Amino acid sequence: MSIVVQKYGGTSVADAARISNVARRIVETFDGGQQVCAVVSARGDTTDELTRLAREVSPRPPRREMDMLLSAGERISCALVAMAVERLGRPAVSFTGSQAGIVTDTEHGNAEILEVRAHRVQEALECGQIVLVAGFQGVSTENQVTTLGRGGSDTSAVALAHALGAKICEIYTDVDGVYTANPSVVAGARRIPEVTFDEMIELTAAGAEVLALRSVVLAQRHQLPLRVCSSFTRAEGTLVRAGPMAAPDRVCGVAYTTDEVVLTINGMADRSALRCVSDALLAAGVSLQHIAREPEGALSLILTEEETLRAEDALSPLQAAMQLSYSPDTSTSRVAVVGRAVHTDEKVLQAMCGALERKKVPARWVDASPSCLSCLVPRQRVEAVVCAFHDALRLGIAPALG
Ligand code: ASP
Ligand code: MG
Repeated sequence: MSIVVQKYGGTSVADAARISNVARRIVETFDGGQQVCAVVSARGDTTDELTRLAREVSPRPPRREMDMLLSAGERISCALVAMAVERLGRPAVSFTGSQAGIVTDTEHGNAEILEVRAHRVQEALECGQIVLVAGFQGVSTENQVTTLGRGGSDTSAVALAHALGAKICEIYTDVDGVYTANPSVVAGARRIPEVTFDEMIELTAAGAEVLALRSVVLAQRHQLPLRVCSSFTRAEGTLVRAGPMAAPDRVCGVAYTTDEVVLTINGMADRSALRCVSDALLAAGVSLQHIAREPEGALSLILTEEETLRAEDALSPLQAAMQLSYSPDTSTSRVAVVGRAVHTDEKVLQAMCGALERKKVPARWVDASPSCLSCLVPRQRVEAVVCAFHDALRLGIAPALG
């Protein structure tokens, strides 16, 4: 009997009616003759609400206790879905991440899955039960409850799908697939029927929020295809596929971030300074992946808010000794165009430059990765730039087949 792993996001289980809808969909798959393991996220805004509550109680809550708290959100929803499935007359059992055998490292709040000991899930499936697993959590090698970082239920689902030998992992969410741009910003955005892992990783790293980045990286490592579709419709969604690279002339989509920080470090004219600074930053776990072009003597890094705090801690001891100064800037966003054509077809860069010129938006270019070209623009103009790029690259028009 084949096995399907499905993941249902928070909006898909937000209230009793939606929980029943998810239960019906699970039962339909089960009645079609497949074993079903479904991973569930916390309902609606539960994770945000619990985080807010914790901060009211304590401005710097202990990370272990945060994990105890936040993991409860997923536990609630998977128990409720199990009840709704039972109500439809099919046997179901819910497991926490720990019961499902998801073993992680000890990094509270952002733990990485080391191993999935799936025998308990496997046994339940073989007994004919539908299995619900609380996403976003595991148990550490030190026997503590851990969580996997925001959006971590996607990662739970991919890890379980691989461990159980599923051929595909189905991700059900509130949009019906991956789009050429955020459809709530770009009216003409188009659903992309298929993307490669490389493209999906670039889109996600550049700010697309459909999937958690780690889940796509893990799926690529195991060459496990993902189908992203809506839990509210029957549309086919987007296939994130293994296999051959995308065509060289492909432009896949536009993505953007609104929560990155540009950290500019001045006083870096000589080479030893660059070396000291990069060693200190790397030792503090700060990524040096995105560097914005600056005049000599300055280095600008694009970081998450959390990384910025770590970078400032790492740089402050160097400040006096090396006459460095640094300043974080949160008024900038990064807009990225993803697809192999960004480096094979000069028309892509021309179209981007033309769009920036027409909109009179100043931009700084960012070091590019193999299938991504990005620039920094003022945050208040980011949506206008996304629309202009989408338009200039004609991404709303499906490419001709053949
Ligand atoms: N509930 C967690 C979050 O909101 C994990 C998830 O939804 O995947 O980030
Ligand atoms: Mg999500």
